[in-house]
Amino acid sequence: MVAQVIDGKAFAAKVRAQVADQVAKLKEENGITPGLAVVLVGEDPASQVYVRSKGKMTVEVGMNSYEHKLDVDTSEADLLALIEKLNNDPAVHGILVQLPLPKHLNEDLVINSIDPAKDVDGFHISNVGLLGTGQKSMVPCTPLGCLMMLRDHHGSLSGMDAVVIGRSNIVGKPMAQLLLGDSCTVTIAHSRTKDLPDVVRRADIVVAAVGRPEMVPGDWIKEGATVIDVGINRIERDGKTKLVGDVDYASAAERAGAITPVPGGVGPMTIACLLANTLTACCRSNGLPEPEGLTA
Ligand code: NDP
Repeated sequence: MVAQVIDGKAFAAKVRAQVADQVAKLKEENGITPGLAVVLVGEDPASQVYVRSKGKMTVEVGMNSYEHKLDVDTSEADLLALIEKLNNDPAVHGILVQLPLPKHLNEDLVINSIDPAKDVDGFHISNVGLLGTGQKSMVPCTPLGCLMMLRDHHGSLSGMDAVVIGRSNIVGKPMAQLLLGDSCTVTIAHSRTKDLPDVVRRADIVVAAVGRPEMVPGDWIKEGATVIDVGINRIERDGKTKLVGDVDYASAAERAGAITPVPGGVGPMTIACLLANTLTACCRSNGLPEPEGLTA
């Protein structure tokens, strides 16, 4: 079997177009422009790239983008004061604090100081609890993007066996919650899991979120399974720097029914879902109906 490629880049463009349509409608019918504030502390090069592309895409879908770049030695009190200001600013519907933060800042404290209704990353403890109890929440962008691709490919996920490899708070755990919410039978695997190959071989859906280049070989994949590769790993091969996922794409594509590539799979969906979450937050805060198909 040669797997169908799930084109995350094309799908993300579709999601962004949907968001842009809804934003235009909001402006025309309600005079509201959704606004996303992104806070970057320090000068981590990867974070700077992410923040720049988030800002660019926010503007492209017609939203307002507010970038706050703070010095690496910004005090916790000053950062919390900025978040408080953004929490109270009616023009700001979404707030994202780019992680990781410099070591002297308490990440949990900072994230939990964001108004949960504006927490478009879905990391606030209230949103984690709401998701875990199957209530309406802000859902972390990467797992939301994975869920959208899976729903688009399969329609219903009900009754499918899903294995999520990785149990981080930002990908693995929320991914598992979302799959459970869609009535999959979910296994969460991690570094202490016994017989990982056997666990993965049972899965109709494999989500790999590990951070180890090409760790999952094709012979772990059940014939016809759907593989969602969240991993982004930079490696040197043939003298060149290359991005690869957590799955060995070439061998997995020979057995899977469908697979996301790296790059061009989950990555582009993450920013598209950030924009979708900002739109959702804006609609909720104004008592307007939520955009269809853009939430969990
Ligand atoms: P973390 O490092 O926080 O978590 C990795 C998880 O993988 C842990 O739960 C760990 O288990 C598990 N793990 C590590 N080694 C093994 C192993 N040998 N066998 C089984 N499980 C193992 O990573 P993240 O969740 O933050 O990210 C995972 C990957 O996804 C990274 O490559 C990251 O770059 C990428 N990513 C991509 C995004 C995108 O937009 N496409 C967004 C976010 C992340 P344990 O808990 O036992 O240590």
